[in-house]
Amino acid sequence: MKPKIREILLKSPSGKAEEWLAKQKNIEWANGLNPRPAKDSLVAEIGETKNESPELFVEKFKGLRQSKAFVDFMDSCTRCGICIDKCHFFISTGDVNNSPVGRANLVRKLYKKGNRLKPSSVDLKKIFSYYNQCTECRRCSVFCPQGIDQAEITRNVREVLTEMGMIPEYVAATLSQVYKTGNNMGLNPKAIASAVEFVRDEMTEETGKEIDIPLDRPKADFLFIPSSADIMVNNDTLKGYAKVMYALKKDWTISSATSEAANFGTFANERILMEFGDKVVDEAEKKGVKEVVWGECGHGWRTANNYVRYRLAEKGISLQHVHQVTSKAIERGQITVDKNKNDDLFNYHDPCNLARGGNLVNEPRKILSAVVRETVEAEFTKDKTFCCGAGGGLLADEKDWNESRAWAGWPAVYYSWKTGAHTMVSPCAIDKAQFPYVIGYHKVDMQMKGLMDLVGFAIEV
Ligand code: SF4
Ligand code: SF4
Repeated sequence: MKPKIREILLKSPSGKAEEWLAKQKNIEWANGLNPRPAKDSLVAEIGETKNESPELFVEKFKGLRQSKAFVDFMDSCTRCGICIDKCHFFISTGDVNNSPVGRANLVRKLYKKGNRLKPSSVDLKKIFSYYNQCTECRRCSVFCPQGIDQAEITRNVREVLTEMGMIPEYVAATLSQVYKTGNNMGLNPKAIASAVEFVRDEMTEETGKEIDIPLDRPKADFLFIPSSADIMVNNDTLKGYAKVMYALKKDWTISSATSEAANFGTFANERILMEFGDKVVDEAEKKGVKEVVWGECGHGWRTANNYVRYRLAEKGISLQHVHQVTSKAIERGQITVDKNKNDDLFNYHDPCNLARGGNLVNEPRKILSAVVRETVEAEFTKDKTFCCGAGGGLLADEKDWNESRAWAGWPAVYYSWKTGAHTMVSPCAIDKAQFPYVIGYHKVDMQMKGLMDLVGFAIEV
């Protein structure tokens, strides 16, 4: 099958498309993640048992019959094939096992055997590899006439794999960092304090104003949850947060115990997801804040909006995304912005988990059109947005994965580039790491910015 959309691979200015396509034909696992489960020490920390046996898989897989979503999605697929070329991994590899229906078929045949399922029918290597190549982006579900959500199937299968200790190393290492420090990057309170001080000093130099980034302030009204990457790497994003909170005169703080908007539990299992969400709830309660404000992270916001929000509500604490805070402030004239500070043509990229799982589509657009001179929309936006190719824990900087993620992220970059925009804007910590890499690999004349970065450049403080 050669769907038309795959032709976009040849449009890459990298000149590497032919070589990549040839590789897909010849090497079976060229684009597959090798089963490289977490090291024993990490697994022990996460509290899981390590046992890669097909026998154990069969035992646990049978338990998925308790999941209504899994059973319904297994039973209702008509094999119409509409979803196949909607997946960025199928577009980039042409491998049907890497398409929504193909991926589901890997386990559907096991599911259909019911109690007769035998360990000898299970190809654990294949299941581990393909189920860790789904970014859980849910794009396929938007096009499926039956409403089948492959990400939900992936989450169920990964529950089983995680219980067996079969977690890709990068995901396991990140989970382990969160258990130790409360953030993905493994920053201890001293490292956070020094990074924050550096950014604070830079802002003072740039603006001549004492714009604080309060850390561990007792009795603040607002607990702000940034991504740890905002603290260490995406400093312009952190400045954007601080300037908005400063302009609104909010009594806020970041906590060194829970400085992580992301939630890699989403990519492992429900128990870890809830444990990480509960860490924030406990900290908010301990600090006695009235509201939690969430920073820029796609899947992290999805988790916050669909789980943390309700746990916080039990304690009488509300939750808002920083875009909701900023968009309202702009609308009410509480902050002043100068769009000439961002004098370029900008294209907003909807992160999957904001648009398809976090109800955050309008606020970012309102903010962007207020803080930049000109915007343009791409062909596939909002719920039809393409995934960056690095969600689901696939941002691993591993030698045999880098090329795959460069091509998996190409559809999103291609359609943004096609608009003629010079700057692609995305409010997601994973996108901020992935898109500059994809843009560089494909030699596209573009740059990538976070939305709050642009707010920070435009706001008058
Ligand atoms: S579009 Fe839906 S029903 Fe059709 S093959 Fe894909 S998952 Fe099955
Ligand atoms: S959820 Fe995304 S990555 Fe997974 S099969 Fe669907 S389109 Fe592909």
